[in-house]
Amino acid sequence: MEPWPANTLGLDYVAAARALGPAPVRMIDVHTHIHGREAAKIYARVRELYGVERTYTMTQISMAAEVREVLGESVRFITMPWFRGNDPEHQHRGGYLEVIERFHGEFGARMMKLWAAPALREFLPSGAVDVADIDSAWRREHARLAVSLGMMIMVHVADPDTWFAARYHHGATYGTKAHQYVGLRRMLDEFPVPWIAAHMGGWSEDLGFLDRLLTAHPNLHLDTSATKWVVRGLSGHEPSEVRDFFTRHKGRILFGTDLVTMDDQLSLAKTGMSRMADLANSPEQAFELYCSRHWTLRTLFETGYDGPSAIADPDLAMIDPARYTAMSAPRLRGCALPADVLRALYHDTAANLVDRWWAEHA
Ligand SMILES: [Zn+2]
Repeated sequence: MEPWPANTLGLDYVAAARALGPAPVRMIDVHTHIHGREAAKIYARVRELYGVERTYTMTQISMAAEVREVLGESVRFITMPWFRGNDPEHQHRGGYLEVIERFHGEFGARMMKLWAAPALREFLPSGAVDVADIDSAWRREHARLAVSLGMMIMVHVADPDTWFAARYHHGATYGTKAHQYVGLRRMLDEFPVPWIAAHMGGWSEDLGFLDRLLTAHPNLHLDTSATKWVVRGLSGHEPSEVRDFFTRHKGRILFGTDLVTMDDQLSLAKTGMSRMADLANSPEQAFELYCSRHWTLRTLFETGYDGPSAIADPDLAMIDPARYTAMSAPRLRGCALPADVLRALYHDTAANLVDRWWAEHA
């Protein structure tokens, strides 16, 4: 395959998976967005190839049944607001309460996602002042309902440092990056169920901050999802620092890819479902797209590789368009985690925390 943004190195991802060898343990991916009957079948092949046996997914509720038909008992659903209707103002407020109830009853969801990204303010014409902050009135309503239904909570808080530098310069509109965590800390205390803060808690660029956050809040956990961001953020540190961080917080960090699959990625015909549809245009490209997240994260955690990432990162050109193109990839520095830390990251922490939570709240 010619190099393209999901394979800048021109890898044969089947051979590359074999070269990595089997993961030290069967893996659990706690953070994906699986959609599409055909895309889910391609995902199932990729998952098997790279060693994942259970998948937690945030799927649009109208598409959850077909994903369950393809992946069966190996898939579990985390609630997610409805993003496709014509009334987003309602869907992110009272409408989400209805979706949480349905995910609980129809799909057995025992985890609720709060998407508190600053960009929600752009998404809703109202500016979303009553819902955007993680501790806003509507978020508390969502959390109260979820906890009453026996759910733990996943949260997207903040965004990459690059976005706060280049996109969110309006501190008055979006708040600073540090501001995002004031409300999170309140919510962690007020809703003392287990929480998973996605994307390395939103601050892979600052491990010292995450150290303090994890120490102060024993009910907080992190996932490694958002492959491009996490590779860029973690590779910015010395590999020994990353190794120390994952070792110190063994039992608090879970493996996740943030892989987004949909049938729109299998051809050039798009339904307008999501901008993620443009990430691939054929079954072959979709296969490589899904492999790229797994190969890159496993290379980061398991090896001492030091070289370009396999995935192009548009944030590089967003920050410095003179230097980077759409095909530029950041440096990836593998941190070669010890075997016991890998086993915890890939399987044991998710089994002890999330699988057990599901079982205890069945
Ligand atoms: Zn996600």
